[in-house]
Amino acid sequence: MLPTHTLMGLAMAVPLVVVAPDHATAALVGALVGSTLPDLDMYAGHRRSLHYPTGYVLAAVPAVAGAILLRTPLLVALGFAFVGAAVHCRMDRYGGGLELRPWEGTSERAVYDHVEGRWLAPKRLIRYDGAPEDVLVLLLLAIPLLVLLEGLLWWVVVAAVAIGCVYGLLRRRLAALAPVLVKKVPEPVTAYVPERYRP
Ligand SMILES: [Zn+2]
Repeated sequence: MLPTHTLMGLAMAVPLVVVAPDHATAALVGALVGSTLPDLDMYAGHRRSLHYPTGYVLAAVPAVAGAILLRTPLLVALGFAFVGAAVHCRMDRYGGGLELRPWEGTSERAVYDHVEGRWLAPKRLIRYDGAPEDVLVLLLLAIPLLVLLEGLLWWVVVAAVAIGCVYGLLRRRLAALAPVLVKKVPEPVTAYVPERYRP
């Protein structure tokens, strides 16, 4: 789920708070944006429009090399952003498929690979977004973050944990509720409702 992606990004950058504090803010902000951004396609071509499992890896190589060599805040942020986005797409593969009830395991679409021109199949290591094991990963990632971060980013972690726990508790009920609610939504709005929620 999205909160787990976000905390994974922050967790990759948080060691810099200890080993390279001068670059920590750029790294954390870059990682936060990069690990969260792919899911902005939630409402238009989810796991395809902004998910580039191969593209982000290719973009990360020069960005990370530039960050190591030149150490400018922009390159550090870009490096962590592309790595965060690449890891996000990789994580989506280890979850469930793109369907309203991923625990039923009927969808073979995890994430779209634009280079291969096909959908990659889900591995279902974490059965679905918001599954108990997803919430567990979220909580484990939160521990070092809550110890090492402060200020606004600390609150981002608290918010991600709160949203993730509530989502985890309601996940299966939301799947039942969504089609009922969508029927009551006025016609022009329906176009913006993700496809899997439509009856
Ligand atoms: Zn995603």
